[in-house]
Amino acid sequence: MSAVIPIQSDTGCTDAPVLRERGQREVFCGLTGIVWLHRKIQDAFFLVVGSRTCAHLLQSAAGVMIFAEPRFATAIIDERDLAGLADAQDELDRVVQQLLARRPEIKLLFLVGSCPSEVIKLDLSRAAQRLSTRHLPNVRVLSYSGSGIETTFTQGEDACLAALVPEMPVAPAAAPPTLLVAGVLADVVEDQFQRLFAAMGLGPVQFFPPRRAGALPAIGPNTKLLLAQPFLADTARALEARGAQRLVAPFPLGAEGTEAWLQAAATAFGIAPAVFQQAIGPAKARALQATAAHRPRLAGQRIFFFPDSQLELPLARFLSREMGMQLTEVGTPYLHRSHMAAELALLPAGTTLSEGQHVDSQLDRCRALAPDLVVCGLGLANPLEAEGMTTKWAIELVFSPIQGFDQAGDLAELFARPLLRRHKLGIPPA
Ligand code: SF4
Repeated sequence: MSAVIPIQSDTGCTDAPVLRERGQREVFCGLTGIVWLHRKIQDAFFLVVGSRTCAHLLQSAAGVMIFAEPRFATAIIDERDLAGLADAQDELDRVVQQLLARRPEIKLLFLVGSCPSEVIKLDLSRAAQRLSTRHLPNVRVLSYSGSGIETTFTQGEDACLAALVPEMPVAPAAAPPTLLVAGVLADVVEDQFQRLFAAMGLGPVQFFPPRRAGALPAIGPNTKLLLAQPFLADTARALEARGAQRLVAPFPLGAEGTEAWLQAAATAFGIAPAVFQQAIGPAKARALQATAAHRPRLAGQRIFFFPDSQLELPLARFLSREMGMQLTEVGTPYLHRSHMAAELALLPAGTTLSEGQHVDSQLDRCRALAPDLVVCGLGLANPLEAEGMTTKWAIELVFSPIQGFDQAGDLAELFARPLLRRHKLGIPPA
Protein backbone atom coordinates (compact mmCIF):
# COMPACT_ATOMS: atom_id res chain seq x y z
CA MET A 1 0.00 0.00 0.00
CA SER A 2 1.51 3.38 -0.97
CA ALA A 3 1.43 6.22 1.50
CA VAL A 4 -0.19 9.51 0.59
CA ILE A 5 2.04 12.46 1.28
CA PRO A 6 0.26 14.59 3.89
CA ILE A 7 -0.63 18.12 2.88
CA GLN A 8 2.04 20.54 4.01
CA SER A 9 1.95 24.30 4.00
CA ASP A 10 4.61 24.51 1.30
CA THR A 11 3.68 26.93 -1.44
CA GLY A 12 4.37 24.55 -4.36
CA CYS A 13 3.37 26.48 -7.49
CA THR A 14 1.39 29.21 -5.69
CA ASP A 15 3.54 31.99 -7.11
CA ALA A 16 4.87 30.10 -10.12
CA PRO A 17 5.06 31.97 -13.42
CA VAL A 18 2.44 30.95 -15.98
CA LEU A 19 3.06 30.86 -19.70
CA ARG A 20 0.11 32.65 -21.30
CA GLU A 21 -0.81 31.29 -24.71
CA ARG A 22 -3.12 33.02 -27.15
CA GLY A 23 -3.52 31.34 -30.52
CA GLN A 24 -5.38 28.63 -32.37
CA ARG A 25 -7.43 26.34 -30.11
CA GLU A 26 -8.18 22.65 -30.49
CA VAL A 27 -11.01 22.03 -28.03
CA PHE A 28 -14.69 21.18 -28.07
CA CYS A 29 -17.25 23.92 -27.56
CA GLY A 30 -19.50 24.18 -24.50
CA LEU A 31 -22.33 22.25 -26.18
CA THR A 32 -20.49 19.09 -25.11
CA GLY A 33 -21.60 19.64 -21.53
CA ILE A 34 -25.14 18.67 -22.54
CA VAL A 35 -23.91 15.09 -22.76
CA TRP A 36 -23.52 14.84 -18.96
CA LEU A 37 -25.94 17.61 -17.92
CA HIS A 38 -28.97 15.91 -19.49
CA ARG A 39 -28.22 12.73 -17.58
CA LYS A 40 -27.98 14.62 -14.30
CA ILE A 41 -31.13 16.78 -14.33
CA GLN A 42 -33.55 14.06 -15.25
CA ASP A 43 -36.57 16.19 -16.17
CA ALA A 44 -34.65 18.87 -18.09
CA PHE A 45 -34.42 19.22 -21.86
CA PHE A 46 -31.68 20.99 -23.79
CA LEU A 47 -32.73 22.60 -27.05
CA VAL A 48 -29.68 23.79 -28.97
CA VAL A 49 -30.49 26.60 -31.34
CA GLY A 50 -27.83 25.94 -33.91
CA SER A 51 -26.69 24.37 -37.14
CA ARG A 52 -26.40 20.85 -38.49
CA THR A 53 -22.78 20.90 -37.28
CA CYS A 54 -24.01 21.43 -33.72
CA ALA A 55 -26.51 18.58 -34.15
CA HIS A 56 -23.78 16.26 -35.45
CA LEU A 57 -21.46 17.17 -32.58
CA LEU A 58 -24.09 16.33 -29.99
CA GLN A 59 -25.22 13.19 -31.76
CA SER A 60 -21.74 11.79 -32.01
CA ALA A 61 -20.52 12.96 -28.59
CA ALA A 62 -23.57 11.51 -26.85
CA GLY A 63 -23.72 8.38 -28.99
CA VAL A 64 -27.51 8.35 -28.93
CA MET A 65 -29.33 5.52 -30.64
CA ILE A 66 -31.70 6.82 -33.26
CA PHE A 67 -34.75 5.17 -31.73
CA ALA A 68 -34.12 6.67 -28.28
CA GLU A 69 -36.01 9.75 -27.12
CA PRO A 70 -33.08 11.82 -25.90
CA ARG A 71 -33.52 14.87 -23.72
CA PHE A 72 -31.71 17.15 -26.09
CA ALA A 73 -32.24 18.26 -29.66
CA THR A 74 -31.18 20.92 -32.10
CA ALA A 75 -33.51 23.50 -33.60
CA ILE A 76 -31.74 24.02 -36.92
CA ILE A 77 -31.18 27.58 -38.04
CA ASP A 78 -31.58 27.33 -41.81
CA GLU A 79 -30.89 29.61 -44.76
CA ARG A 80 -34.22 31.45 -44.37
CA ASP A 81 -33.34 32.37 -40.78
CA LEU A 82 -29.83 33.40 -41.76
CA ALA A 83 -31.13 35.52 -44.63
CA GLY A 84 -33.63 37.20 -42.31
CA LEU A 85 -36.56 35.84 -44.36
CA ALA A 86 -38.17 34.20 -41.33
CA ASP A 87 -38.71 35.57 -37.86
CA ALA A 88 -36.41 33.32 -35.84
CA GLN A 89 -38.22 34.15 -32.58
CA ASP A 90 -41.55 32.99 -34.07
CA GLU A 91 -39.92 29.83 -35.42
CA LEU A 92 -38.43 29.11 -32.02
CA ASP A 93 -41.79 29.57 -30.28
CA ARG A 94 -43.33 27.11 -32.72
CA VAL A 95 -40.60 24.50 -32.17
CA VAL A 96 -40.85 24.84 -28.38
CA GLN A 97 -44.64 24.56 -28.50
CA GLN A 98 -44.40 21.33 -30.50
CA LEU A 99 -41.72 19.92 -28.23
CA LEU A 100 -43.58 20.60 -24.99
CA ALA A 101 -46.84 19.24 -26.40
CA ARG A 102 -45.07 16.01 -27.32
CA ARG A 103 -42.96 15.71 -24.15
CA PRO A 104 -45.11 16.68 -21.14
CA GLU A 105 -42.54 15.23 -18.72
CA ILE A 106 -40.18 18.16 -19.39
CA LYS A 107 -40.09 20.53 -16.41
CA LEU A 108 -37.06 22.62 -17.29
CA LEU A 109 -36.14 23.67 -20.80
CA PHE A 110 -32.78 25.17 -21.64
CA LEU A 111 -32.43 27.13 -24.87
CA VAL A 112 -28.74 26.68 -25.64
CA GLY A 113 -27.01 29.25 -27.81
CA SER A 114 -24.49 28.27 -30.47
CA CYS A 115 -22.15 29.99 -32.92
CA PRO A 116 -24.90 30.45 -35.55
CA SER A 117 -27.42 31.85 -33.05
CA GLU A 118 -24.78 34.32 -31.89
CA VAL A 119 -23.86 35.29 -35.41
CA ILE A 120 -27.46 36.18 -36.25
CA LYS A 121 -27.77 37.79 -32.80
CA LEU A 122 -30.77 35.74 -31.79
CA ASP A 123 -31.67 36.92 -28.29
CA LEU A 124 -32.27 33.65 -26.44
CA SER A 125 -32.60 35.24 -23.00
CA ARG A 126 -35.56 37.27 -24.29
CA ALA A 127 -37.02 34.13 -25.86
CA ALA A 128 -36.58 32.23 -22.59
CA GLN A 129 -38.37 34.93 -20.62
CA ARG A 130 -41.24 35.03 -23.10
CA LEU A 131 -41.58 31.23 -23.21
CA SER A 132 -41.31 30.90 -19.43
CA THR A 133 -44.17 33.35 -18.99
CA ARG A 134 -46.21 31.26 -21.40
CA HIS A 135 -45.39 27.82 -20.00
CA LEU A 136 -44.99 28.33 -16.24
CA PRO A 137 -45.86 26.76 -13.83
CA ASN A 138 -45.47 23.54 -15.83
CA VAL A 139 -42.18 24.35 -17.53
CA ARG A 140 -39.45 26.84 -16.67
CA VAL A 141 -37.44 28.05 -19.69
CA LEU A 142 -33.87 29.31 -19.26
CA SER A 143 -31.05 30.06 -21.67
CA TYR A 144 -27.28 29.93 -21.76
CA SER A 145 -24.56 29.90 -24.40
CA GLY A 146 -22.62 26.80 -25.40
CA SER A 147 -21.13 28.38 -28.50
CA GLY A 148 -17.58 27.82 -29.58
CA ILE A 149 -17.14 31.60 -29.79
CA GLU A 150 -17.85 32.05 -26.08
CA THR A 151 -17.14 28.74 -24.40
CA THR A 152 -14.79 25.79 -24.42
CA PHE A 153 -15.77 22.26 -23.48
CA THR A 154 -16.50 22.27 -19.73
CA GLN A 155 -17.55 25.93 -19.69
CA GLY A 156 -20.94 24.78 -20.98
CA GLU A 157 -21.67 23.26 -17.57
CA ASP A 158 -20.57 26.48 -15.89
CA ALA A 159 -22.86 28.55 -18.12
CA CYS A 160 -25.79 26.18 -17.54
CA LEU A 161 -25.42 26.14 -13.75
CA ALA A 162 -24.89 29.91 -13.61
CA ALA A 163 -28.22 30.29 -15.47
CA LEU A 164 -29.90 28.17 -12.78
CA VAL A 165 -28.59 30.15 -9.79
CA PRO A 166 -31.19 32.99 -9.99
CA GLU A 167 -33.91 30.31 -9.81
CA MET A 168 -32.68 28.96 -6.46
CA PRO A 169 -34.97 29.84 -3.54
CA VAL A 170 -33.76 32.13 -0.75
CA ALA A 171 -32.79 30.30 2.44
CA PRO A 172 -34.37 31.82 5.57
CA ALA A 173 -31.93 34.00 7.55
CA ALA A 174 -32.29 31.73 10.58
CA ALA A 175 -31.69 28.54 8.56
CA PRO A 176 -28.99 26.22 9.95
CA PRO A 177 -25.69 26.04 8.03
CA THR A 178 -26.04 23.93 4.89
CA LEU A 179 -23.36 22.40 2.72
CA LEU A 180 -23.88 22.95 -1.00
CA VAL A 181 -21.78 20.77 -3.30
CA ALA A 182 -21.69 22.40 -6.74
CA GLY A 183 -20.80 20.69 -10.01
CA VAL A 184 -22.14 17.67 -11.85
CA LEU A 185 -21.06 14.39 -10.27
CA ALA A 186 -22.17 10.94 -11.36
CA ASP A 187 -25.07 9.76 -9.20
CA VAL A 188 -22.97 6.92 -7.79
CA VAL A 189 -20.28 9.39 -6.68
CA GLU A 190 -22.85 11.77 -5.21
CA ASP A 191 -24.35 8.91 -3.19
CA GLN A 192 -20.91 7.91 -1.87
CA PHE A 193 -20.22 11.48 -0.71
CA GLN A 194 -23.66 11.70 0.83
CA ARG A 195 -22.93 8.54 2.85
CA LEU A 196 -19.54 9.88 4.00
CA PHE A 197 -21.07 13.19 5.12
CA ALA A 198 -23.81 11.27 6.95
CA ALA A 199 -21.22 9.04 8.65
CA MET A 200 -19.45 12.10 10.07
CA GLY A 201 -22.77 13.66 11.09
CA LEU A 202 -22.42 16.56 8.66
CA GLY A 203 -25.56 18.03 7.22
CA PRO A 204 -27.80 19.05 5.72
CA VAL A 205 -25.97 18.52 2.42
CA GLN A 206 -27.41 19.47 -0.96
CA PHE A 207 -26.07 18.94 -4.44
CA PHE A 208 -26.26 21.41 -7.30
CA PRO A 209 -27.57 20.77 -9.88
CA PRO A 210 -30.27 18.56 -8.34
CA ARG A 211 -31.55 15.44 -10.07
CA ARG A 212 -35.04 16.97 -10.48
CA ALA A 213 -35.60 20.53 -11.69
CA GLY A 214 -38.11 21.20 -8.90
CA ALA A 215 -35.59 20.35 -6.17
CA LEU A 216 -33.33 23.38 -6.47
CA PRO A 217 -31.60 23.95 -3.11
CA ALA A 218 -32.21 27.15 -1.17
CA ILE A 219 -29.25 29.48 -0.78
CA GLY A 220 -28.21 32.25 1.57
CA PRO A 221 -25.47 33.45 3.93
CA ASN A 222 -25.60 30.16 5.84
CA THR A 223 -24.71 28.17 2.74
CA LYS A 224 -21.18 26.78 2.68
CA LEU A 225 -20.13 26.12 -0.89
CA LEU A 226 -17.84 23.26 -1.85
CA LEU A 227 -16.94 23.09 -5.53
CA ALA A 228 -16.81 19.56 -6.92
CA GLN A 229 -15.55 20.70 -10.32
CA PRO A 230 -12.77 23.16 -11.12
CA PHE A 231 -14.45 24.84 -14.09
CA LEU A 232 -17.29 26.69 -12.35
CA ALA A 233 -16.01 30.27 -12.25
CA ASP A 234 -19.30 31.97 -13.21
CA THR A 235 -21.43 29.61 -11.13
CA ALA A 236 -19.31 30.18 -8.02
CA ARG A 237 -19.43 33.93 -8.57
CA ALA A 238 -23.23 33.83 -8.85
CA LEU A 239 -23.58 31.60 -5.76
CA GLU A 240 -21.26 33.84 -3.75
CA ALA A 241 -23.27 36.88 -4.84
CA ARG A 242 -26.28 35.11 -3.27
CA GLY A 243 -24.38 34.90 0.03
CA ALA A 244 -22.74 31.45 -0.17
CA GLN A 245 -19.31 31.14 1.45
CA ARG A 246 -16.89 29.17 -0.68
CA LEU A 247 -14.66 26.70 1.14
CA VAL A 248 -11.05 26.56 -0.04
CA ALA A 249 -10.09 23.01 -0.94
CA PRO A 250 -8.39 20.95 -3.61
CA PHE A 251 -10.74 18.94 -5.82
CA PRO A 252 -11.82 15.41 -4.88
CA LEU A 253 -9.49 13.50 -7.18
CA GLY A 254 -7.36 10.74 -5.69
CA ALA A 255 -7.18 9.72 -2.03
CA GLU A 256 -5.36 12.86 -0.94
CA GLY A 257 -7.56 15.30 -2.86
CA THR A 258 -10.76 13.58 -1.69
CA GLU A 259 -9.66 13.61 1.94
CA ALA A 260 -8.67 17.29 1.80
CA TRP A 261 -11.94 18.19 0.04
CA LEU A 262 -14.01 16.39 2.67
CA GLN A 263 -11.82 17.85 5.41
CA ALA A 264 -12.63 21.40 4.25
CA ALA A 265 -16.33 20.67 4.79
CA ALA A 266 -15.72 18.85 8.08
CA THR A 267 -13.69 21.78 9.45
CA ALA A 268 -16.35 24.29 8.39
CA PHE A 269 -18.99 22.25 10.23
CA GLY A 270 -16.86 21.62 13.34
CA ILE A 271 -16.63 17.85 12.92
CA ALA A 272 -14.16 16.36 15.44
CA PRO A 273 -10.96 14.99 13.82
CA ALA A 274 -11.50 11.50 15.28
CA VAL A 275 -15.06 11.35 13.95
CA PHE A 276 -13.86 12.52 10.55
CA GLN A 277 -11.09 9.92 10.37
CA GLN A 278 -13.41 7.15 11.49
CA ALA A 279 -15.98 8.11 8.85
CA ILE A 280 -13.54 8.19 5.94
CA GLY A 281 -11.17 5.42 7.14
CA PRO A 282 -12.48 2.40 5.20
CA ALA A 283 -13.02 4.29 1.94
CA LYS A 284 -9.62 5.96 2.17
CA ALA A 285 -7.94 2.59 2.76
CA ARG A 286 -9.69 1.20 -0.34
CA ALA A 287 -8.49 4.18 -2.38
CA LEU A 288 -4.89 3.75 -1.25
CA GLN A 289 -4.96 0.05 -2.02
CA ALA A 290 -6.52 0.58 -5.46
CA THR A 291 -4.11 3.33 -6.51
CA ALA A 292 -1.08 1.41 -5.23
CA ALA A 293 -1.81 -1.29 -7.81
CA HIS A 294 -1.18 1.21 -10.64
CA ARG A 295 1.75 3.07 -9.15
CA PRO A 296 4.48 0.79 -10.54
CA ARG A 297 3.21 1.46 -14.09
CA LEU A 298 2.98 5.24 -13.59
CA ALA A 299 5.83 6.18 -11.24
CA GLY A 300 8.64 8.00 -12.99
CA GLN A 301 6.70 8.35 -16.26
CA ARG A 302 6.72 11.85 -17.78
CA ILE A 303 3.36 13.40 -18.64
CA PHE A 304 2.36 16.46 -20.70
CA PHE A 305 -1.07 18.10 -20.47
CA PHE A 306 -2.53 20.10 -23.36
CA PRO A 307 -5.19 22.59 -22.17
CA ASP A 308 -8.64 21.09 -22.54
CA SER A 309 -11.03 20.51 -19.65
CA GLN A 310 -9.74 22.67 -16.75
CA LEU A 311 -9.28 19.41 -14.82
CA GLU A 312 -5.58 19.46 -15.67
CA LEU A 313 -4.18 20.94 -12.45
CA PRO A 314 -6.03 18.61 -10.04
CA LEU A 315 -5.14 15.64 -12.26
CA ALA A 316 -1.49 16.68 -12.38
CA ARG A 317 -1.44 17.06 -8.61
CA PHE A 318 -2.87 13.56 -8.17
CA LEU A 319 -0.51 11.98 -10.67
CA SER A 320 2.61 13.63 -9.30
CA ARG A 321 1.94 13.30 -5.58
CA GLU A 322 0.12 9.98 -5.39
CA MET A 323 1.35 8.18 -8.51
CA GLY A 324 4.91 9.52 -8.68
CA MET A 325 4.61 10.81 -12.27
CA GLN A 326 6.81 13.63 -13.51
CA LEU A 327 5.05 16.70 -14.89
CA THR A 328 6.66 18.10 -18.02
CA GLU A 329 4.00 20.77 -18.72
CA VAL A 330 0.53 21.32 -17.33
CA GLY A 331 -1.67 23.37 -19.65
CA THR A 332 -5.13 24.60 -18.74
CA PRO A 333 -7.58 26.67 -20.82
CA TYR A 334 -8.10 29.06 -17.89
CA LEU A 335 -6.31 29.38 -14.59
CA HIS A 336 -8.64 30.62 -11.88
CA ARG A 337 -6.08 31.39 -9.20
CA SER A 338 -8.41 31.56 -6.20
CA HIS A 339 -10.32 28.37 -7.12
CA MET A 340 -6.99 26.66 -7.81
CA ALA A 341 -5.14 28.03 -4.77
CA ALA A 342 -5.09 24.71 -2.90
CA GLU A 343 -4.10 22.81 -6.06
CA LEU A 344 -1.30 25.21 -6.95
CA ALA A 345 0.13 24.90 -3.44
CA LEU A 346 0.31 21.12 -3.84
CA LEU A 347 1.96 20.99 -7.25
CA PRO A 348 5.70 20.39 -7.19
CA ALA A 349 7.66 23.63 -7.27
CA GLY A 350 9.11 24.28 -10.70
CA THR A 351 6.23 22.70 -12.67
CA THR A 352 5.78 24.38 -16.06
CA LEU A 353 2.27 25.84 -16.17
CA SER A 354 0.56 27.28 -19.22
CA GLU A 355 -2.81 28.97 -19.61
CA GLY A 356 -4.74 29.27 -22.88
CA GLN A 357 -3.86 27.62 -26.12
CA HIS A 358 -1.48 28.15 -29.00
CA VAL A 359 -1.58 24.70 -30.44
CA ASP A 360 1.48 24.98 -32.69
CA SER A 361 3.85 26.21 -30.01
CA GLN A 362 2.50 23.65 -27.54
CA LEU A 363 3.01 20.89 -30.08
CA ASP A 364 6.60 22.06 -30.54
CA ARG A 365 7.25 21.97 -26.80
CA CYS A 366 5.55 18.59 -26.46
CA ARG A 367 7.68 17.06 -29.23
CA ALA A 368 10.86 18.53 -27.75
CA LEU A 369 10.03 17.12 -24.30
CA ALA A 370 9.08 13.66 -25.69
CA PRO A 371 6.87 12.72 -22.72
CA ASP A 372 5.78 9.16 -22.02
CA LEU A 373 2.12 10.17 -21.96
CA VAL A 374 0.24 13.11 -23.48
CA VAL A 375 -3.24 14.18 -22.29
CA CYS A 376 -4.99 16.01 -25.10
CA GLY A 377 -8.19 16.49 -27.09
CA LEU A 378 -9.41 14.05 -29.72
CA GLY A 379 -8.15 16.22 -32.57
CA LEU A 380 -4.55 16.00 -31.40
CA ALA A 381 -4.49 12.42 -30.17
CA ASN A 382 -4.41 10.60 -33.50
CA PRO A 383 -1.69 12.73 -35.10
CA LEU A 384 0.44 12.43 -31.95
CA GLU A 385 -0.08 8.65 -31.83
CA ALA A 386 1.01 8.54 -35.49
CA GLU A 387 4.21 10.29 -34.39
CA GLY A 388 4.79 7.53 -31.85
CA MET A 389 3.49 9.27 -28.74
CA THR A 390 1.15 7.65 -26.22
CA THR A 391 -1.98 9.69 -25.58
CA LYS A 392 -4.95 9.88 -23.26
CA TRP A 393 -8.15 11.59 -24.40
CA ALA A 394 -8.99 14.43 -22.05
CA ILE A 395 -12.69 14.01 -22.79
CA GLU A 396 -12.69 10.55 -21.20
CA LEU A 397 -11.68 12.12 -17.90
CA VAL A 398 -14.74 14.36 -18.01
CA PHE A 399 -17.18 11.62 -19.02
CA SER A 400 -15.97 9.05 -16.47
CA PRO A 401 -16.82 9.05 -12.77
CA ILE A 402 -13.38 9.85 -11.31
CA GLN A 403 -14.11 11.78 -8.10
CA GLY A 404 -13.99 10.30 -4.64
CA PHE A 405 -12.20 7.51 -2.80
CA ASP A 406 -13.89 4.64 -4.58
CA GLN A 407 -13.00 5.96 -8.03
CA ALA A 408 -9.33 6.75 -7.24
CA GLY A 409 -8.16 3.39 -8.57
CA ASP A 410 -10.18 3.80 -11.77
CA LEU A 411 -8.68 7.26 -12.21
CA ALA A 412 -5.15 5.90 -11.93
CA GLU A 413 -6.04 3.10 -14.33
CA LEU A 414 -7.21 5.59 -16.97
CA PHE A 415 -3.61 6.81 -17.17
CA ALA A 416 -1.96 3.42 -16.73
CA ARG A 417 -3.97 1.75 -19.51
CA PRO A 418 -2.41 3.52 -22.54
CA LEU A 419 1.07 2.89 -21.13
CA LEU A 420 0.24 -0.77 -20.60
CA ARG A 421 -1.15 -1.05 -24.14
CA ARG A 422 2.06 0.39 -25.57
CA HIS A 423 4.11 -1.97 -23.44
CA LYS A 424 2.08 -4.99 -24.59
CA LEU A 425 2.42 -3.96 -28.22
CA GLY A 426 6.15 -3.70 -27.68
CA ILE A 427 6.24 -0.15 -29.05
CA PRO A 428 9.32 1.74 -27.82
CA PRO A 429 8.81 5.29 -26.44
CA ALA A 430 8.78 8.08 -29.06
FE1 SF4 B 1 -19.47 24.09 -33.90
FE2 SF4 B 1 -20.14 26.41 -32.79
FE3 SF4 B 1 -22.00 24.49 -33.08
FE4 SF4 B 1 -20.05 24.19 -31.27
S1 SF4 B 1 -21.64 25.75 -31.25
S2 SF4 B 1 -20.75 22.63 -32.76
S3 SF4 B 1 -18.31 25.18 -32.31
S4 SF4 B 1 -20.92 25.59 -34.73
